[in-house]
Amino acid sequence: MERAIRPRTTPQLTVISTAIQGDHSHPSAEDIYLRVRKVLPRISLGTVYRTLQRLVREGTIQMLFFGERTARYDPTLEEHDHFICQQCGRVEDVRVEREQQMDFASLVRAGFTIAAHSLAIRGVCQLCGRPGEPRRRPRRTGPPVPTKRERTH
Ligand SMILES: [Zn+2]
Ligand SMILES: [Zn+2]
Repeated sequence: MERAIRPRTTPQLTVISTAIQGDHSHPSAEDIYLRVRKVLPRISLGTVYRTLQRLVREGTIQMLFFGERTARYDPTLEEHDHFICQQCGRVEDVRVEREQQMDFASLVRAGFTIAAHSLAIRGVCQLCGRPGEPRRRPRRTGPPVPTKRERTH
């Protein structure tokens, strides 16, 4: 348990905090680590991880999981949804209009306290879905294999 003694601002905290502000790419701790290492070459991944945890606790950033083992960090605190590209792994901020208010009554009755909710939409992003511009070129030669994408409307 942490006491009320709040650790003072460290150079690491300032650099990491600056690195993630305004970043909408939902970086992982490792992404941030590679970035801040250019400014603080002796920083460890552990320090980056702990500092990110602290920013999450302090409510400066939020931590997200998109079915991966690694957490992603997001400086956007307003409620928003995410589009996750299954091809390039990009996570984009989106806002999906809700036709109706979502009904959480059953959850509340079951004892859950709702703080926020967001959608995680999975599919293929605009860049990967653009015809003729595959992000990852297949190594093999020969006729291109058409990739089938399911379209859901
Ligand atoms: Zn993509
Ligand atoms: Zn986001």
